[in-house]
Amino acid sequence: MNDLPFFALAAVCILTIIFLANFYIRRRFTDKAERDQRRARAAALNAKKAGLLVNCPLCNSVLLPGEDLFSRVYRPMNVHDQLCTIRGCPHCYPNPEPGVKRECPVCHKEVSLDDGHLVARLFNKTDGKKHVIVSGCNLCCKSKL
Ligand SMILES: [Zn+2]
Ligand SMILES: [Zn+2]
Repeated sequence: MNDLPFFALAAVCILTIIFLANFYIRRRFTDKAERDQRRARAAALNAKKAGLLVNCPLCNSVLLPGEDLFSRVYRPMNVHDQLCTIRGCPHCYPNPEPGVKRECPVCHKEVSLDDGHLVARLFNKTDGKKHVIVSGCNLCCKSKL
């Protein structure tokens, strides 16, 4: 009977260790998720400061540095303004993420995944920055031209 308090104490110790281990593991996971979120937020903030943060003209997703639009630029690269076509961003092309809608910012019609694209003019500014003005999609731009 003398052993009973010892076993009770041992049981409490083990339970405490399990509880602490569980707590620690869970904290590590939430910490990691939080850190990832914080890092993404910091990257977005830095990009905003640098003027690099842009939204996809088709689906309006925020594009971080490294997430480029799928576009094709025509005419030589050294002229003041170039014609370019935009097929989408990594969020909406070639496989749109769930809930992402590809819409023309000018006529608000849906832009087809297969042969749809936006028509835009790319201005190369003297300070090296690029400026894109979307004229419309392949459907509404054609009717304008
Ligand atoms: Zn997009
Ligand atoms: Zn359009």
